[in-house]
Amino acid sequence: MFKTSQKNKRFKLLTLVLIALVMIVGCSKKEVKMNPGEYTVDVTGMQPMKVAVTLSETEITDIKILEQNETKGIADEALTSFPKQIVESQDLTIDAVSNATKTSNAIIEGVKLAIQKAGGNPEAFGEVTGTIKFEPGTYEGVAEGHNGQVKAAVEFSGDKILSVKIIESDETEHLSDVVYEQLPKAIIEEQSLNVDTVTGATVTSMAVKKAIGEAVKEAGGNPELLNKVSPKELSTEVKELTTDVVVVGGGSAGISAALTSEQAGHKVILIEKNAMYGGHTALSGGWTLITGSKIQKDLGVTNDTPELAFDDVMANGGNNSDPELLQLFVDNMGAAADWTVDYVGAEIPDSLKVLPENQVDRALVYTGGGKGISDALVAKMNETEIQQYLNTKAEELIIENGEIVGVVAKAKDGTTYKIKADSVVLATGGHGARRDLLGESLDSFVYYGAALASGDGLDLGQSVGGDIIDMSFVELFENGVEWKPGIAKSTFNGSMAAWEAGGILVDRNGNRVVNEKGMGPDIVAQQAKQEDARLFIFMDQATFTKFRENIGGYGISEQMLDGWLENNGKVKPYFAHGQTVDETTGILNINAENLKATMERYNTFVENGLDEDFGRDPKYMTQGIGDGPYYLVEQLPRYATTLGGLTVNTDLQVLNGDGQVIKGLYAIGDTAAGVRGDNSISGSDIGWAITSGYLIGDILGK
Ligand SMILES: Cc1cc2nc3c(=O)[nH]c(=O)nc-3n(C[C@H](O)[C@H](O)[C@H](O)COP(=O)(O)OP(=O)(O)OC[C@H]3O[C@@H](n4cnc5c(N)ncnc54)[C@H](O)[C@@H]3O)c2cc1C
Repeated sequence: MFKTSQKNKRFKLLTLVLIALVMIVGCSKKEVKMNPGEYTVDVTGMQPMKVAVTLSETEITDIKILEQNETKGIADEALTSFPKQIVESQDLTIDAVSNATKTSNAIIEGVKLAIQKAGGNPEAFGEVTGTIKFEPGTYEGVAEGHNGQVKAAVEFSGDKILSVKIIESDETEHLSDVVYEQLPKAIIEEQSLNVDTVTGATVTSMAVKKAIGEAVKEAGGNPELLNKVSPKELSTEVKELTTDVVVVGGGSAGISAALTSEQAGHKVILIEKNAMYGGHTALSGGWTLITGSKIQKDLGVTNDTPELAFDDVMANGGNNSDPELLQLFVDNMGAAADWTVDYVGAEIPDSLKVLPENQVDRALVYTGGGKGISDALVAKMNETEIQQYLNTKAEELIIENGEIVGVVAKAKDGTTYKIKADSVVLATGGHGARRDLLGESLDSFVYYGAALASGDGLDLGQSVGGDIIDMSFVELFENGVEWKPGIAKSTFNGSMAAWEAGGILVDRNGNRVVNEKGMGPDIVAQQAKQEDARLFIFMDQATFTKFRENIGGYGISEQMLDGWLENNGKVKPYFAHGQTVDETTGILNINAENLKATMERYNTFVENGLDEDFGRDPKYMTQGIGDGPYYLVEQLPRYATTLGGLTVNTDLQVLNGDGQVIKGLYAIGDTAAGVRGDNSISGSDIGWAITSGYLIGDILGK
């Protein structure tokens, strides 16, 4: 008896010591041993998927999606970033990617199955115990954002995060400003890294959290302890609102419509799904067509007419514009532009831009570009009585007796808004992020727009019988590189610098196929003929140096470029280089002998000042191709702006498949199809967004 109770005591003591040890180590999952290896599992997201999970004894080290047929555009982030987040956090309780819950949950399910197969316990991943402790002081942490590194300096006391400063960032200011203002505040307030990401800037938000997590490690803490789920109840409240006009979407079209509706005497509500206004407008260059405006005349252009603008837009769009809608646009773009200055207070420079597509100078770039005009619209809206709801997404239209009488929207905090209105204006932007809506012809092309362009307005319109047309019409540029699956960065400035030096564009046979300085659509047409839509800029060192020096301005950081060069064509984006032509072409399977012949022939053209094959302007043939090292950089067609959408009449009312009006429902900006044809002149998109929004006031005032 005595002996047994002694043993029991010892056993209890040992158990207590073990528990204490586990608590000190601070992470219960380390005790779970798995059989290391790669485990392949079948799960179901939107569709069946095959997932390969690599496990070490204690950690999830890699997750690969081997087979999937998830909805392109919607599931992209869940398929690419989400597996990385799981590996980084070692947490199977992290939030699913918003709008891609099924895909995210399927991946989590797959990892759990793999852990079980490996003899582990999935519940150990996410259940972290221990005490939050730091070595007091300020520490730095770095993480990869959208455009490059985000660096945070974090100040700690012994058990608290005291302050966070973002000290380095290449992120798009318009989006990151909101993240850098809101996220550190929330993290300090809640002493948790498990705070909500900023809607509309998820990648930057994740980078901030990760960078702070890295600083936590530097301070001797365990970031996983700060990742604990703090159960936050979503509101179940349903609020009923009534107004005259509800505008869905806070880009230039939506805010213009809200402002002119209010000017026409209406009570207005505007809802925006993101944490910030601006949509694509704020990310754009801010080029805008202004035919017939006082601005244009004041800047010395008096020979423009709506007829000339009509012809230019019609020709550029391949004669695919609806003539009546285009007429509406060209007749009103001038008045709309003047309104942005006279009423909204937008600032403009003292000259216009020359574009070969326009017979007359009519392209204005607002001061501060797209962000400039967007900020001006928001500032004006803040002076009005327009009721604004950010972080509030329209999910349903309210229909009564065949007429649209409002919108149901969901706010990020869970509140449901039932907004009754006489008129609903859909200004949700385009559908570039929705591969399923774009059509197969764009499958190999790459998207450089934002996730916000998810065709919500088209879904809403279609749900009440609205007709959609021209879904694969997009504005294409020829200088994309595929830095994430299906997602582009633009090398526009670098490519232009390459043509001004000795760069040539070749196919996989090693042949030139087009005038590199010719019209964009001609280059895109050649790219579209290639198996994977890729042509390659071939450069010697001198030209590559120019390419590199000029590549900035489109979210490509030095560090990003270095990483791509280091990969040396093994993975996308293809940036291959070698000492000789043979070495360089070998990496990408490009015909070396043909390329050598192409190079020699091109050098003769440079010497003679005449491109016998494609007529490149001698102005851009000042430099031949010299000795190695050589570079080959991929070039794919990239798109962001979509030109199709809901069909509308000249009162911007949405039409059904029989061409009949759906009463109470309007579509404007990128949500409305038909104006720009199958291609848009820079400035016709913002021009149309503002003009169509400007017209809404008059239309609803009738
Ligand atoms: C990088 C880039 C550069 C460009 N440069 C130019 C240029 O210089 N000139 C030019 O003419 N065009 C340019 N464009 C195209 C131009 O920006 C767009 O055509 C134009 O901004 C469309 O305006 P919009 O108001 O219709 O849509 P957006 O500005 O995209 O606004 C739509 C808004 O609706 C919100 N929204 C979407 N769904 C919902 C929902 N369910 N509920 C609530 N809100 C919702 C979105 O979050 C967004 O804020 C560029 C585009 C990009 C991406």
